Amino acid sequence: MAATKVVEVHPLPIPLLVYIVNEWGDAPRFEAHEGTKPYPTAESLRVESPVFWEHFPPFDEQTLVDTANLIHPVFASTTGSECAQQLNTLIVESGMAPALSSDQWTVHEVWNSDRPERALLAGATLALIDHLRHEPDASRLGTCVGDACVDVYVDQSPAGRRQYCSLTCQNRARTRAYRAGKKASPEPAP
Ligand SMILES: [Zn+2]
Repeated sequence: MAATKVVEVHPLPIPLLVYIVNEWGDAPRFEAHEGTKPYPTAESLRVESPVFWEHFPPFDEQTLVDTANLIHPVFASTTGSECAQQLNTLIVESGMAPALSSDQWTVHEVWNSDRPERALLAGATLALIDHLRHEPDASRLGTCVGDACVDVYVDQSPAGRRQYCSLTCQNRARTRAYRAGKKASPEPAP
């Protein structure tokens, strides 16, 4: 039997991760009644940052959909424990394990994966692990409370009270609350 190929995991930039989950994920698409809308092309992602994608094997639309569907529940977690558990499952599913690497006398942590076909999922998972290392408050990984929207966001506001994926959703909610005869409670800008 051939030896298992072990590859280093490359974390996705967070904005790219959020974009993939919101554009390819079933929950965001169905909630927005966009389930039959064509997906952006997988190629469009590569055009954005071709150098970054050199680390990844070619992936198809189904890989993007599967990855988005596995990552969305991390953002939809209602407790820190649930978030941690979701990520622990994704670590196993993408064959990830931490290891130490060195460059001359500099030793640093890396994550490897023995499932190269899950490189995108592993990259997404590591992006969230890296994010939580700097910002352990998992409530800052959220899903929009707007109407017909469960898009994910990463709250990087100082107050950490973000509830909407975008200004569009926030303004829509304010307008509706205003029409209902009361002012929407002030929300920090996303
Ligand atoms: Zn939204």
